[in-house]
Order: sequence, then C-alpha cells, then structure tokens
Amino acid sequence: MTRVRLENIVKEYDSVDQVTLTGYKNPPALHDVSLEIKDGETMSIVGPSGCGKSTMLKVVAGLEFPQKGHIFYNDFDITQIKPQDRGVGMVFQDYALYPTMKGKGNLAYYFEMHEQSKEEMEVRVKQTAKLMGVDFELLLSRLPDTLSGGEKQRVAIARCIVRDPLVFLMDEPIVNLDAKRREQTRIEIKKLLRKFTITTLYVTHDQQEAVFMGDRITVMRNGSIEQVGTFDDLYYSPANLFVATFIGTPPLNVLSVEITDGHVIMQGGRWQLPPGLANAIQSGKMRLGVRPEGWQLNAPDGIFLPISHIERIPTERAAFIHGSLLESHVIAVASLEQPEINRIAITPDWERVYFFEAEGEGVIHTPGVPDFF
Ligand code: ADP
Repeated sequence: MTRVRLENIVKEYDSVDQVTLTGYKNPPALHDVSLEIKDGETMSIVGPSGCGKSTMLKVVAGLEFPQKGHIFYNDFDITQIKPQDRGVGMVFQDYALYPTMKGKGNLAYYFEMHEQSKEEMEVRVKQTAKLMGVDFELLLSRLPDTLSGGEKQRVAIARCIVRDPLVFLMDEPIVNLDAKRREQTRIEIKKLLRKFTITTLYVTHDQQEAVFMGDRITVMRNGSIEQVGTFDDLYYSPANLFVATFIGTPPLNVLSVEITDGHVIMQGGRWQLPPGLANAIQSGKMRLGVRPEGWQLNAPDGIFLPISHIERIPTERAAFIHGSLLESHVIAVASLEQPEINRIAITPDWERVYFFEAEGEGVIHTPGVPDFF
C-alpha cells in the first residue's frame, strides 16, 4: 500500500559549455512540482518532449536527486534513500534486459543480487509467469535477442513484478513497438496494472495512451504541472488554453472573436449567443474554442465553411471536415449520412464551447464535465 507524494520538487541539471568548458545551469527540469499519486492508482504523466516527464520518474526512482523538495512514500520521507532501497520497478522504452541472460535469468537476477534463496526465486518466477499469461513460460527459456520488441517488454515488466515493487515506474514502455504490437502490449499492460493495483507512474508523450493507461493524468509543460485530473476533467474543464488544445484529437478549434451585444463576431460572420451565455460572458475580445464534435451543422445562423478536404474516420460512419475560417484551421465532425457533406455551415453548440482570454491562456468559460451517468 503506497501513496507517493512529491512536494515542491526542484531539479536543475548542470551543463558544461563545450566551447568555453565552463559550467552553467539550465532552466529547472522540474520547477516546484507537487503531486500526489494515490495508493494503487496509475497516474499518466504526459506533455511535450523535454517538459520534465522522465526527470520526474528518475527523481521518484532515486536515479536523480532534487535540489529542493521532498518525496514521500505514505508519510515516510524517501528523498535521501538510495534507489535500490526504494522498492521501485522501472520499465524503460529500451527494455534494458541483460542480453546474455535468458528470460528466466533476467527475472532471477534480483534474487541473486539480494542473496535470496533459489526456492524463493523459483516460487516468485512461477507466480509471475502465471500472472503474465498463458504463453509467458515460453519466453523464459529464450535470450533477449531472439524476442520481438513486445516480448522483450513483457519480460522487462515481469522482471519488475517478480520483485514485488512498492511503486511501478514506466517510461514510454511501448514507444519502440510497431503499431500492432503497441496496441496489443498497451492492452496487456493495462490488464496487468488492473490486476496488481500497484501505484504506478506512466510516462508517455502520447495523450491517447495517457488516457488509456491512467486513472488520472498529469499534464506537464516546461518543468511545471499544468493540470491533474481525469480525462473528463482535462477535456471539459481544462485549466488553460494549453491543456485545452493538448488534450483531444483532433485538437480544439480556436478562433479569435469579439463579443458584442450578445453576439460572437469574427471576420466572416457572426453568431448570436443564447441568453444564458450572453449574460455570463462580458463583452470584449477573446478566443472561442470548439471541439470538432462540438459544431451544429447547417443551423439557420450557420457560417459557411470553405472546405479543404474530407477525412474519413475509419471506424465510424463519419468524417472530419477540414476547412478554414480566415486564418484558423477548422475541423468539424459530420456523419456520412449528412446531405451535401462537402457544403456545410457551422454554428458552435453553445453548451459545449470554451472561451479563453484573447492574449494569454486564461479560461473565461468551459462547458464543465457533463453528467454522463
Ligand atoms: P521529457 O521526459 O519530458 O522529454 P526530460 O525530463 O528528459 O523531459 O528533460 C527535461 C529537461 O531537462 C530537458 O530540457 C532536458 O534537455 C534536460 N535534461 C534531462 N536530462 C539531462 C541531463 N542529464 N543533463 C542536462 N540536462 C538534462
């Protein structure tokens, strides 16, 4: 039972200028980061490359030490504890298996290092193999070189599980697999995480993977946390424009508009706001956000969308309609049954719109998480 808590973590890396050979400080890779992962929870950490995701994992693992702040397991401060004593299991994108050891040797190594009995090792390996699924035993007698990427990753995960870790740390574990294996392996990892309920930090740059894996998601940028929440929190109540556009595929459409006399005015047309929204929002310049599925098509006050192309959504009887309203690229979802799909007029579905400041990223209005159930 392990709750993991990061408290005001600052991590800076020193670098050396290769020309002058003088040392200098980079901007912090983690900038006053606080985060709590509940016992048994899988927390996805997502954000653009270089935002500090791997550094966060390394700090929790003890592979890097922060300059400021503390890390707790439950209420126990582990900030100064060595990595080998933290009870973490780490899975990396490059598998990091011992190449000269067969699958079983990779699982058994930990027991040898910790001078634990062969009997205990045999019992744990057997239990782990059973948990890993029907065909896993076959991988135990093979060298890493003879395994596919997905199989290597299964062995790497089993190597973590066999140690009975307090905390699981996964850094882009499926990024190196081809698309089909990635799909299979992510389902497998998800099943395992459900089965074990070990507290897990799962790093990925892929927001769809983050959503699939995580009970909650932490969105990072430039060494800071932008928002922590469920997918619905991030999607319907984003903390700012960055989160709003980062979460969701295709991304939120963002249009520069002006609100005047209860109307949304932009170059090219105007829409009338419903009274509730007109009262809630002050006049002035701002940015309007509409999800691709958040348009009403061919409503009476629709603005005609000049279409650049139509992209079928393979698994659905629908398409993304791409067009542009002046400067802004706009994507709308339309059913394939929609008459004249290549000639549509769009109006925001006002219950699903977002408004942001004209400059900056602050939120003026979000739809809020709908009451789905
Ligand atoms: P992410 O995992 O989100 O891609 P990282 O945590 O790897 O980001 O990196 C965060 C920042 O710290 C980046 O600017 C990166 O260049 C820098 N960084 C990471 N590791 C080191 C290191 N060992 N030395 C110097 N800078 C580093």
